[in-house]
Amino acid sequence: MKHLHIIGGGPAGLGVAVAAKQRALPFTLYEASNQPGGNARTLSIAECLYDTGAHRFHDKNLETTTFIKGLLGDNLLSVTSPSVIYHNGRFIDFPLHLGSLIRSLSPKELAQIVVSLATSRFRQRSEKTSFKEVTTARYGKALANLFLLNYSEKLWGVPTENLSPEVSGGRLRGLTMRGLLKETFGWEKNLREHLDGSFYYPRMGIGMISERLSEFAGSNCIRLNSRVTRIIKNESKVTGIEVNGSEVIETDQLISTLPLSRILHLLDPKAPEEILATSSLLRFRHLLLVPIVIKRPYLTPNASVYFPDSSIPFTRLYESKNRGQEMAPPDRTCVVLELPCHSDDLAWKSATNQVAELGLDLIRTIFGVQSEEVIAYEVVRVPFAYPVLDLEYATHVEALLAYLSQFNNLHLAGRNGLFQYVHIHDLIGAGKKLIENILSDR
Ligand SMILES: Cc1cc2nc3c(=O)[nH]c(=O)nc-3n(C[C@H](O)[C@H](O)[C@H](O)COP(=O)(O)OP(=O)(O)OC[C@H]3O[C@@H](n4cnc5c(N)ncnc54)[C@H](O)[C@@H]3O)c2cc1C
Repeated sequence: MKHLHIIGGGPAGLGVAVAAKQRALPFTLYEASNQPGGNARTLSIAECLYDTGAHRFHDKNLETTTFIKGLLGDNLLSVTSPSVIYHNGRFIDFPLHLGSLIRSLSPKELAQIVVSLATSRFRQRSEKTSFKEVTTARYGKALANLFLLNYSEKLWGVPTENLSPEVSGGRLRGLTMRGLLKETFGWEKNLREHLDGSFYYPRMGIGMISERLSEFAGSNCIRLNSRVTRIIKNESKVTGIEVNGSEVIETDQLISTLPLSRILHLLDPKAPEEILATSSLLRFRHLLLVPIVIKRPYLTPNASVYFPDSSIPFTRLYESKNRGQEMAPPDRTCVVLELPCHSDDLAWKSATNQVAELGLDLIRTIFGVQSEEVIAYEVVRVPFAYPVLDLEYATHVEALLAYLSQFNNLHLAGRNGLFQYVHIHDLIGAGKKLIENILSDR
């Protein structure tokens, strides 16, 4: 086996690197930034740590969990920290719980939920193709409108009738009204285990996983500050990559975790115009973070607070100390607000203090935080946070993958590389599978 070249040092690239190391395959990983971890990094502000978006480690794959436990040892904490939804000045348990709904919603809202649920039962059963249809049929119009549709529209930036049901990322699976009732009245336990407030989290932030993966893979095989600027190809294979606009390196096997539309634009000679046109139809959602450090030991008791109301521009607030206590000193806490954007949104282009002001206003209004309690804040960009799974995405992705499959030594991986709504544990597992496939082809 000749050398493997891996583009991107996020969890996907690191997962491939770890699997290559385990199988003693020589490799080099090229990462554009000065740090591995991609969108699963931990940043710092005023002595506090916070992640590039609210992260947790999902215990969904025994082999990957066992591996990560082995890598992190005591540093992988088992945390219990429930989340809430903020609606009309009240906090409602999330996952939804009937008792909390009854305490928090107005009689009118409750009546609307009951009526719309009852009528949704009598609607004709036809195949539901959009996120809006699936959630409205399952929860009734009122509940879906209150908590799922506005929220999803803010998150993905697309009307929910144009969103694929896959955007729920499997989180609604098993969450049925009947299940909700059974659980509320104690007839059935743990129906919504996957949504529970208990999860694994690394002591000093999600970035610890990326750091440990890169240590395992071997830092001598990871080239930081190395942006791949061109991918050189012939009819049937990729022959080389250009790094930082100058150095050209011959490639045998190339693994790319770059966003699918990006890799197509790096090809030399250029990909056909119709392929480039199709790639421009794929959209990615970016994320602005507003971390705010506050002179209070804690602001909330929650892992996350969700904001479904469309009057609030942010989708979520998370408090890193409620995931790992050591993420902030005892006298202060860091909360992070998430604002999803498209690349042509003014907020993304300017990412200025105006966005921070919106965040400061929000915590002032909801939690009564005074200006003198604010120690520090900033606005941080997280590009390519989510591949937007609209109703057409699968057709576009299929066409692009079919085109790229002619290059027999090119392998794609990653959340944006394969345009899939996947998570860290999936990517680590996929890295292993990819290396096994390359070896079996050999
Ligand atoms: C808000 C938010 C919350 C999340 N919560 C969770 C969670 O709770 N649990 C979970 O498991 N997952 C979570 N995720 C998902 C997880 O962060 C992503 O799945 C993961 O980061 C994707 O990894 P990746 O390697 O595919 O891509 P990325 O992390 O995007 O990494 C890509 C890497 O490629 C590099 N790169 C780009 N261009 C070049 C180039 N030309 N040359 C070289 N390098 C390049 C980038 O610098 C980057 O490091 C969350 C994501 C977000 C945004």
